[in-house]
Amino acid sequence: MAISEDLLEILACPACKAKVELNADGNSLKCVECRRVYPIRDDIPVMLIDEATIEDEQTELNSSK
Ligand SMILES: [Zn+2]
Repeated sequence: MAISEDLLEILACPACKAKVELNADGNSLKCVECRRVYPIRDDIPVMLIDEATIEDEQTELNSSK
């Protein structure tokens, strides 16, 4: 897989500095604190607040790609 555990260790949410986890789809990173979801483009995590989406606990796989 493209994003290694080591990389995840050093990544942090730019909004709240909490750690992020790889999403089940492997294409995004989710902040454990604020639930922002950061996209991964070309195997590079885009850790920008402007690029993040907020994951709503109520919504499931509704987003369009
Ligand atoms: Zn956060």
